Amino acid sequence: MPENRESESRKLLGRLRDALAEDSAGQTRLDKITHLIANSMQTEVCSIYLFRDVETLELCATEGLNPEAVHKTRMRLGEGLVGRVAKQSRVINSADAPKEHGFRFMPETGEEIYSSFLGVPIQRLGEKLGVLVVQSKTSRTYSEDEVYALEVVAMVLAEMTELGAFVGEGAALAAPHQQPAMFKGLVGQEGTAEGHVWLHEPRVVVTNPIADDPESELARLVEAVDQLRVSVDELLSSAKTKDKEQFEVLQAYRMFANSRGWMRRMEEDIARGLSAEAAVEKEQSTARARLETVPDAYLRERLQDLDDLSNRLLRILTGQGTSTGAEMPPDPILIARNIGPGELLDYGRSLRGIVLEEGSVGSHAAIVARALAIPLVIQTRSITNAALNGDAILVDGEQGIVHLRPEESIVSAFRDKIIMQTEAQQRYAGVRDLPAQTTDGQVISLYMNAGLMADLPSLAGSGAEGVGLFRTELQFLARNQVPARDDLAALYSRVMDAAAGKRVIFRTLDIGSDKVLPFMRRVDEPNPAMGWRAIRVGLDRKGIMRMQLQALIRSAKGRPLSVMFPFIAQFEEFKAARQHLLDELEREKRLGHVVPEKVEIGAMLETPSLAFAPRHFFEMTDFISIGGNDLKQFFFAADRENERVRRRYDTLNVSFLNLIGQIVRRCEETGTPLSFCGEDAGRPIEALCFSAMGLRSLSMRPASIGPVKLLLRRSNLEEVRKVIQGAEAAGEQSVRPALMDWLAQQN
Ligand code: PEP
Ligand code: MG
Repeated sequence: MPENRESESRKLLGRLRDALAEDSAGQTRLDKITHLIANSMQTEVCSIYLFRDVETLELCATEGLNPEAVHKTRMRLGEGLVGRVAKQSRVINSADAPKEHGFRFMPETGEEIYSSFLGVPIQRLGEKLGVLVVQSKTSRTYSEDEVYALEVVAMVLAEMTELGAFVGEGAALAAPHQQPAMFKGLVGQEGTAEGHVWLHEPRVVVTNPIADDPESELARLVEAVDQLRVSVDELLSSAKTKDKEQFEVLQAYRMFANSRGWMRRMEEDIARGLSAEAAVEKEQSTARARLETVPDAYLRERLQDLDDLSNRLLRILTGQGTSTGAEMPPDPILIARNIGPGELLDYGRSLRGIVLEEGSVGSHAAIVARALAIPLVIQTRSITNAALNGDAILVDGEQGIVHLRPEESIVSAFRDKIIMQTEAQQRYAGVRDLPAQTTDGQVISLYMNAGLMADLPSLAGSGAEGVGLFRTELQFLARNQVPARDDLAALYSRVMDAAAGKRVIFRTLDIGSDKVLPFMRRVDEPNPAMGWRAIRVGLDRKGIMRMQLQALIRSAKGRPLSVMFPFIAQFEEFKAARQHLLDELEREKRLGHVVPEKVEIGAMLETPSLAFAPRHFFEMTDFISIGGNDLKQFFFAADRENERVRRRYDTLNVSFLNLIGQIVRRCEETGTPLSFCGEDAGRPIEALCFSAMGLRSLSMRPASIGPVKLLLRRSNLEEVRKVIQGAEAAGEQSVRPALMDWLAQQN
């Protein structure tokens, strides 16, 4: 690039900075900028289009087009050449614009006389902000150099938009981080929360995009990149990164950190007049824009790596986000692109809510959020870009909606909703210590599901009779290595202490499927939910299973112990697992250790096949617990994590209820205690229906016990049974409508 071009570019940026530094209104600034650019690039037209809302671009300033059109001419995303630049986040450079595919002429602007067109996106880290356009009468293609110069200017405009430089009267634009925004995602964990944003990875703010002295900026960049390389090398050689996947990511980091292309582009940006951090951000923005359009998963991951690396570099350059500079608000709502279970556990219950850009219903983070009973909304696209630390935020985990910087009316409606929920909670508190006895005298035992020590305090407050399902995998998921037996025993023991004599049913490890342990080699399976998981892993890797069983036996310190094995699909598996437990008991006795005074060994019924197991199976099990989440997904062949099919089949579908009925009958024949511990047990209507079908024990989230108990105490199961039979006789697909009608009549 010729030296004079570089200095031209620097001169323009210098003038831009002066214009921006002046204490003028947003519109005046925009007008000045278009004038400066048109002059400097010797084009007749320069226009700035900014987003009015996510779908609409508006002409906000122009030099050369009809000034009357400013704030009047609008186009939709994708419409005309300007709309296309924005939509595809790419440059359009045409010598004969009217002949271009998709050209749409806006008569009010008077642009018909301009033949050549150059449009570049104004974007910041993947966030579309607008389009910067130059046009001229003579038909010519703009040189690579000119395109580049305009991109650099667009970068500065993006930064200034971010900082709110164009806010104010007439400009009709608010700073992007001051406007209310609503995000629609998916429910990860129900519940509502009001609080303030706490970014897991705080956003770096570049306050000085333009720099005068390229030499010193270059030196800053080189120094920062050196620092970055050293830190990546250190990570790579550290013992902690023996994990293959992490190792691969770090190697990709190193590759980028040493990449000449990346470095050269940033050097050129600096030569054009950008500061070191603005140069890093410009390349990051380009990579993010590319990320959106790349269909290849591998390439996407690499671009993601580059993005992470750029963030690290920005933190080194600005010193932001590396220290404990910002203080966590007292009512933090965590926002992250994604987060691991360990990191989430570190935050623990201090969080009011969690919002993730990615994540899935069955992800580790979701499992932990559920265990911690923190409202979670997942798949909220681009929220990490939109949110700033300390922003007010409302999380509606019932609907999967997040309101960022909400307006007053939204806040008050939201608070009303919370008050209503609190009132309902108070009503539930009134029945907390009463039995879940129906009006026809049936008593249903209500237990709670847990997975963390931190869940135990809910035991007393919820009115649960005990823990019907203690998911033991969370302690494993949160660690980088297999936990030691003594640590596990101590933890299980504390769980029993906290339960103070109430029954706790420990479920042995259910790993595999979506729950992959950080220290286990990942096995790629076509259908992990139906793959090598739970008891299948336990029976094949006996070491871990035996270690866990020993820990459970020791934790009891002589108290009664209840253990259940997950995902049993055939009798033999239960027999083998049970035998391991009996062997371990023998061994402990031989070693002279105290053994539990009583041991109950149960099975989870999570596959339809087990409902048809030989009678011997039902005789041998001390109890059976229906894992409805899995049972339902396999019964209907509908993935519980797939949002497209997850809700397609109703739990109250007559076929599913027939299966439940069959399990109830078989357990009655052999006198085997039966319970239900899937999520559906915590839904009042489902719980009512299961009770009417003969289930006498349900295990659910602690917060569900109140609502379930309240409904059971008001209902007559004999009548409910008649409603169910009536719906079935009438050939209904689901008994829900009939049950709802009946409930409405009951008021
Ligand atoms: C179930 O499948 O219903 C169950 C309780 O187990 P998990 O949700 O942990 O798979
Ligand atoms: Mg299950």
